[in-house]
Amino acid sequence: MRILIKNAFLVRPEGVEKGDLLTEDRRISRLGGTIDAPADKVIDAEGCYVFPGFIDTHTHFDLEVGSTVTADDFPSGTRAALLGGTTTVLDFATQERGMTLMDAYRKWQNKAKGCSCNYGFHMAMSEWNEARIAEIPLMIENGVTSFKMYMVYDNMRLSDGVIYEAIQRLAREDCVIGIHCENDDIIKSRVRELKAAGKTASRYHAISRPNLVEADGVGRLMDAAYLAGGPAWVVHLSTKEGLDIARRARERGQEVYLETCPQYLVLEEAMYDAPDGAKFVMSPPLRSRADQEALLQAMTTGEIDWIGTDHCSFTMAQKAAGQDDFSKTPNGGAGVQNRAEIVYTRAVKGGYIDLPAMAELLSTRAAKLFGMYPKKGALLPGSDADIVVFDPNAPHTIHAATNLHRCDNSPYEGYEAAGKTRDVILNGVLAVENGTILATGLGEYVKRDRCGRYRK
Ligand SMILES: [Zn+2]
Repeated sequence: MRILIKNAFLVRPEGVEKGDLLTEDRRISRLGGTIDAPADKVIDAEGCYVFPGFIDTHTHFDLEVGSTVTADDFPSGTRAALLGGTTTVLDFATQERGMTLMDAYRKWQNKAKGCSCNYGFHMAMSEWNEARIAEIPLMIENGVTSFKMYMVYDNMRLSDGVIYEAIQRLAREDCVIGIHCENDDIIKSRVRELKAAGKTASRYHAISRPNLVEADGVGRLMDAAYLAGGPAWVVHLSTKEGLDIARRARERGQEVYLETCPQYLVLEEAMYDAPDGAKFVMSPPLRSRADQEALLQAMTTGEIDWIGTDHCSFTMAQKAAGQDDFSKTPNGGAGVQNRAEIVYTRAVKGGYIDLPAMAELLSTRAAKLFGMYPKKGALLPGSDADIVVFDPNAPHTIHAATNLHRCDNSPYEGYEAAGKTRDVILNGVLAVENGTILATGLGEYVKRDRCGRYRK
């Protein structure tokens, strides 16, 4: 199968240049200038940008949280991802206590059957002992080279000492570990305090987890990583205070990777007061305009490494569990389809970053760190034919009803996006044409190499 993209603006690190691109079977075979070659399919991309397929570094599909399971499973979540231009998702396989890492890996491989975009796993660990540590080489053999630990949630929380040991041990293997940074003890006390005062509405979710609760977690992570001599990776950074601490760690020579999410760039705390405010209950919570501005500024300077969605969808009926108690609301929101159009609208059209930076934030840096580059994350001859044709002149309003995810709400409901993904090539096959999915279930497991620690 040969697909020829004509008249596109090719977005590459060195700049944006008008030209054609040819894929042959599963690879990019040529790009740049005028290409006149026979093809099974010709796409006229006049006026559109061509990006390397986007990589979502942070999804939770088919995740059980207590007695609830997310609205999206892998088939529904990856269809929505694909339509939004995401050709690879990295989901968090979760090792519950008493499970082996291999159990969790197999469980997630099973869940991921029928994916419509490519997929890989980070391994979220809830235990750190000799048996689990002994499984790390097996994970690497299976292409799982990134891990995660939580400072919060009773069923997952691990100590700072464990985080220190894990960073040290995994750095030796060129693996990285992302940390959910918050101070669990203070959150618990504040939740008790708020509930005792009868403050149970959704807005108190944010008040229970203020900026300093995240900043404290980021600070402890930075110090642990400094002492361990390994990389520090903050998942879903949401505050200017956390950013400042990470910045200081870099100034003292640390290798720091920062992820943020679209919700921290366009949504804000005041939204909890809406009648459907429960849909914004996620952790970290929505912040202020000043936090958005700090994160956007950090994107202009290259300090933010990539943007993942933290897609973790629950229906309004599921969210209603927290109707009389915000702390019982399942945490998370749906965003997997909307990442590129929001980043384009807010950060590129908003004048913060240029198109090559958008490619870096949505694809290239994640491909590098997570051991997929240059197969993924690059428009280069020989790279995988995972390609996005993005139309910058396609104004539209985001609605849950027209999103493809299997969830009856969207935190981005009513958001006015300036452009959108038009066509997607996945593994050399035209999988989305003109905003319509042509092929589902073509996603393949991405067995990843060790991490490309580009900030080392
Ligand atoms: Zn998450």
